Amino acid sequence: MQRHNSSKLFEKAKELMPGGVSSPVRAFRAVGGAPIYPVRGKGSHFTDADGNRLLDYCMSWGPLVVGHAHPKVVEAVTETAKRGLSFGMPHDSEIRLAARLSQDLPEGWQVRFVSSGTEAVMTALRLARGKTGRDVIAKFTGCYHGHSDCLLVKAGSGLATFGTASSAGVPEGATNDVLVLGLDDSTGAVDALRKVGDRLAAVVIEGIPANNGLLVQRAEFLEDLRQVSRELGAMVIADEVLVGYRTPSVLVSRENGLDPDLITLGKVIGGGMPVGAIAGPAETMASLAPDGPVYQAGTLSGNPVAMSAGLATLEVLEAEGGQARLEQLGARLESGFVSVAAGLSLPVRLQRAGSIFWLALDTETLPRSAEAIASESMDKYQTLHQGMLERGIYLAPSGYEVGFLSTAHTEEDIDRTIEAFGECLQEAYRSSD
Ligand code: PLP
Repeated sequence: MQRHNSSKLFEKAKELMPGGVSSPVRAFRAVGGAPIYPVRGKGSHFTDADGNRLLDYCMSWGPLVVGHAHPKVVEAVTETAKRGLSFGMPHDSEIRLAARLSQDLPEGWQVRFVSSGTEAVMTALRLARGKTGRDVIAKFTGCYHGHSDCLLVKAGSGLATFGTASSAGVPEGATNDVLVLGLDDSTGAVDALRKVGDRLAAVVIEGIPANNGLLVQRAEFLEDLRQVSRELGAMVIADEVLVGYRTPSVLVSRENGLDPDLITLGKVIGGGMPVGAIAGPAETMASLAPDGPVYQAGTLSGNPVAMSAGLATLEVLEAEGGQARLEQLGARLESGFVSVAAGLSLPVRLQRAGSIFWLALDTETLPRSAEAIASESMDKYQTLHQGMLERGIYLAPSGYEVGFLSTAHTEEDIDRTIEAFGECLQEAYRSSD
């Protein structure tokens, strides 16, 4: 595959921007080579700066659930933009998106819009701390909730430790009140949370952990977290920035045992524009400014163009029977992969939740915790990624990242992908011998 123009653009970008990128994984460090520069996207494909047409499973890291440049989304954005890009005032587009979201939220819940998932979770934590008057937050190893200081923590050794920062520049004080727990370990989590007792403000967890592999949790584990949080008078925050509107249940945390007190959203509800949201019962949300003492604000929060993109995306998804279609495509990918993998007799598994999938390499069982992922498998992913690119298929440039389907993907896309997986997996395992 020709990558001359993309490489040239990357060289120029590196002169002007740190690492050449605006977000680190895009730099392709985990898979090697220069990143691909897209110039236009349509449906399930995009065309890059060298004229290659690539089948996309990154889909802007999830938001593009109805595909690239869906005509209805483009029309909504264009019509809104013609009337003004931003006012910094309340706008009817935010009311319409809030009303659409309220169809999927519990009765009596409200929504506050922000411009990213990071902001949504950061605000949800502040709200939980402000509402409970407590400081401690518990999070899980392998769960990503954006790049705010207090959430950039990883576990030390041992079952549950107070976190140390996983980024330079995060002051110790920012993570002092963040407890890091292991996924899929009820006893460890419940014991650690009980020890924190009435200092615990909230437990935050991804609706389905999907930022360090796709680590689908057992319902009992989630129910235990729910129960102990209730017992301690703490909140459960389900971070659905990534999984929201990507599984048949739409908001998975309402059904998987978490039964959260707050839900954070992003990605799909912005349809490719910068959006995040915090949702919770009106009584809790009343703690946010201007009604309450918990401050939150944003110049571009509730931006009309972004609201219109999100609303149009959700409307298209509904009108096209999107969730059923995504499930159909996901099931085809999954069953096709299972038969290819069985034919190859390789230790590989495909984990799937609705329109999200992840390849677990070097394992016969699907991991449920970050620790259960073999780090050697990432070398194989690198070979796999390169092979797929050569065959015109774009996967996320890291083996820890998930893939995303859209309603614009077709049966032919899926079948071609399965065939390519078969060939590239063989290459990946051969090259590691
Ligand atoms: N929460 C989850 C679960 C995410 O997956 C992400 C981003 O991938 C975020 C929060 C942060 O969202 P953003 O990148 O929009 O700040």
